[in-house]
Amino acid sequence: MPEYRSQANGARVLADLNALRAIGAYKSGVHKPTFSAAHMESLHWLAQRLPEAQLTPTIDGIGNVFGTSKKSGPKILAGSHLESQNFAGWLDGPLGVVYALEAARVINPDSGLGGAVEVAAWCDEEGHFGHFLGSRSYIGDLTEADIDSAKDRTSGRKMREALREVGLADRPRARAELGRHIGYLEAHIEQGDTLESSGLGIGIVTSIVGIWQYRITFTGEQNHAGTTRMGARKDAGLALARLCVAIDERFPDLCSPRTVWTTGRITLDPGAPSIIPGRAEMLFQIRDDDPGVIDRLENALTSIATEIGAKSGCKEDIERLRTGVPGLMDERFQHAIAEASNVFAGGRSLRMPSGAGHDAQILARIMPAGMLFVPSIRGISHHWDENTTDGDIVTGAQVFVDACRRLLAG
Ligand SMILES: [Zn+2]
Repeated sequence: MPEYRSQANGARVLADLNALRAIGAYKSGVHKPTFSAAHMESLHWLAQRLPEAQLTPTIDGIGNVFGTSKKSGPKILAGSHLESQNFAGWLDGPLGVVYALEAARVINPDSGLGGAVEVAAWCDEEGHFGHFLGSRSYIGDLTEADIDSAKDRTSGRKMREALREVGLADRPRARAELGRHIGYLEAHIEQGDTLESSGLGIGIVTSIVGIWQYRITFTGEQNHAGTTRMGARKDAGLALARLCVAIDERFPDLCSPRTVWTTGRITLDPGAPSIIPGRAEMLFQIRDDDPGVIDRLENALTSIATEIGAKSGCKEDIERLRTGVPGLMDERFQHAIAEASNVFAGGRSLRMPSGAGHDAQILARIMPAGMLFVPSIRGISHHWDENTTDGDIVTGAQVFVDACRRLLAG
């Protein structure tokens, strides 16, 4: 391994991650929903650390934390998020924030290195109030009306009210300054078991899937379960069950190797044993990184629903609730991570798509973006058992810092 003048300090990275784990600790993980006391304490923790990296801290009007540099030369933006899912793991988010902080601490004070790392912690990546509200605000894709209507999905607390309670309501929202950054780099735990099961240390993300979400409804006729002849029924529940089976039969011929689809919730109305359901509703999600594939699947979904509606005597309705924004990662960023992996991870790296959503796909809309993954033990995430070995955490930090250095050096 070449002797670099300065590189990631593994003990400092682990100490910082453990400090964040202690804030809002729950079992072996954390519970830090957006704008909870533990989440706010984590944001202030980061703001207090940023001057160690010669960065000026600010927390903006939507809860994003930024560290900005006065150093001359190119600048790279790096970060992730500090809130967690409810009762979840300690590394989902904080890993990328601490790596970014570490890269800034190593690179910014080094007068022999041109350029600086600026740090961001994006608010609400985990979607307690919406989808990627912090990073979308930064790229100019979030209106005041979006904030007016945002509510915590667990407590129902309105976002406006939450912003007032945590003292951020009167602050301006920071917007990206176009041309300021050569790009955005984010590290994250893999949240799957591809790296661990292949004995690899670093995932080089090629693309991030978009998430498309639908509400599918069949309306039939509610009637008596004992006296209505089978042939005379318009059973919305049966229509929906047929739809699930048909999707399972027909999607595999139309999808890409990476497409996944999931039924989130099925509701039958009235849902009583002696009543034929008059209405059946299901929440349905598809993930892929290719909108062309989604177009095919959406068309298939519509024709399947129409066929089944006709066969079942029910009226079908498909409403798209969320349109996916897949993100392609920049080739130069992938190359820099690969080179850094050759030096610090013995080349044990793999180019792979991300099946989970990340802020990098939002940033990729306005600047080149890249992501690296470190292994997740048994692929567990969004659970307090989420973990990564100390060795893999430290290797990831070294690769991350070196990738930043390479990108800044051009
Ligand atoms: Zn995350």
